[in-house]
This record gives sequence, structure tokens and C-alpha cells, in this order.
Amino acid sequence: MDEFLIQNPIAFVVVAGILGGLVGSFLNVVIYRLPVMIKGDWQNQCYEFLNEYESRNDDNRLINPNSDQSKFNLVVPRSRCQKCKKQLTALDNIPIFSYLFLKGKCRYCSTTISARYPLIEILSALLTAFAAYHFQYGLHFLMIALLSWGLIALSMIDYDHKILPDSIVLSLIWIGLLYSPYNPIKEVTPITSLIGAAAGYLILWIVANSFKLITGKDGMGNGDFKLLAVFGAWLGWMILPLIIVLSSFVGALIGIGLIIFKGRDRNNPIPFGPYLAIAGLISVYWGADMINGYLNYSGIV
Ligand SMILES: [Zn+2]
Repeated sequence: MDEFLIQNPIAFVVVAGILGGLVGSFLNVVIYRLPVMIKGDWQNQCYEFLNEYESRNDDNRLINPNSDQSKFNLVVPRSRCQKCKKQLTALDNIPIFSYLFLKGKCRYCSTTISARYPLIEILSALLTAFAAYHFQYGLHFLMIALLSWGLIALSMIDYDHKILPDSIVLSLIWIGLLYSPYNPIKEVTPITSLIGAAAGYLILWIVANSFKLITGKDGMGNGDFKLLAVFGAWLGWMILPLIIVLSSFVGALIGIGLIIFKGRDRNNPIPFGPYLAIAGLISVYWGADMINGYLNYSGIV
């Protein structure tokens, strides 16, 4: 199998695309359930704190009505229709094709299924296939695919709930650091990776706190600092200025587009996470070329 995939790059891209679609189906579950799990945890902690704070005994303890989290995680319960609660069969769970086959409606109650599910599966399939095309068969393909999947989940969760869950973002930082000795990008060594993670966090921390000092408003969250640290760890500290410039550029483009086409309120901006994720992913593929091009063009090198 390995031999076949090494010698047939096109077959490898196709296999990678199928893998990406399957993972995308799981990403939909993560995007929907992880925030619910996190908020459930917060709720439990709030109840515990109140009971502690008000010194309540066993007789008059406040009970969180949603305290039982044991039956809701990434694995159970099985996916079901949001409307009629019927459990989906394996046939309803085939990425992209189930949606097409069911014409975007629940098999039982005909409720419209959000087009977001197949779109995320398609995005995951495309990004995975592109990583396969660009890096070809090998460890680096798998690592960049993993990074891409994490970024899809983070972007969507940030868009929906304005949070970047630590369980994903900190894992990506650790994976980037541990991968640095094997990372084929020539600028990446354990040292540039470590400095990248620290500097990525620090730069945005300084920017956000200066902004807060001047305007009195929160412009960015802790999650954004950690997300820039992810790219520092994966790509080395030298990439950080480029990612900051690119993310502002992507943010301006998408922001202007949304205000023009959707009349979105400019005081209710999209969180910064998705912009950082897009800028970071562009840098994974073309970051080094963009930096070298700039240095050559400007006559610095
Ligand atoms: Zn239904």
C-alpha cells in the first residue's frame, strides 16, 4: 500500500481527500459538542463555588440541573437529528454524500440540515488533499493535515462561541514543539520553535494590553495569543511578523466583504481566531517564499 501511494501521487491525493472528508465529519461533532461540554463544566464549577461560598450543607445545596455530563461527550450519544431526535444511521453519516443523497433533509422528519456540515467536510477534504499534493507522501503531510484539522475546529468554534478551547490550541502548541526536531522546514529547529511559541504569545499579549490601556476595550482574547504561539512553534519565530500582517489583511478583506454583502454590524466583529488560522495556514505553504520574495524585492538580501 505504501509503495503504491508513493509511486502514484494522484492516488495518494485522492486517498488523502477521502481521509479528510471522514475527519471532517468528526470535526463537525467536535465543533458542535466541545463548546457544550466546556460550558457544562463551567456551569458545574459555578454551582460548586456558590455552594462553597454560601456554606450550604447537603440539605440545601444548589443542584445544577445539567450536572450529568457523563452521557455527553465526543463519542456518545450517537449523532441524531436536532429536530426529531431520531438517531442517524451509518448511511446518514457518510461525509458529503449523505447530504447530497438526502437532498439536505432529515430522512425522518424532512427538517432542513444545515449546509455547514457538508461544507466543513468538503473544506477538510480539500485541505487534506492539498497537503498531500503539496508535501507528498510522508510524515510532514500527516502533520500538516493534523494542523489543518485543528485549525478548522478552532476557527468554527471561535466563530460560533468566541472561544478557542485549550484542549485543542494547547495540544497544537505541544505537538509543534515536539515535532520541531523532525520538521523539514529548514528554519525550524527546537530553539526557533520554542522562541516562536513564547514570542507568538508575548507579541499579541503586548498588542492586546496596549490596546486595552489606550481604548479601555478588550480587543483580543487569551486564545488568540495561544493561537499565534501555535504557528511560532510549527514554523519558527521568523514567520510571526508575516502572520500578523497577513491576518490583519485577511481580517480587513473579510470584514469589508461582510459589511458590504451582509450588512454585518461593524461593532460586532468576527473573532480574530479564524483570521489568524487562515494567515497561519497560508504561511505553512508559502510563508518562506513570501518572506524571501519580500527581502529580494526590497533589496535587503
Ligand atoms: Zn429529523
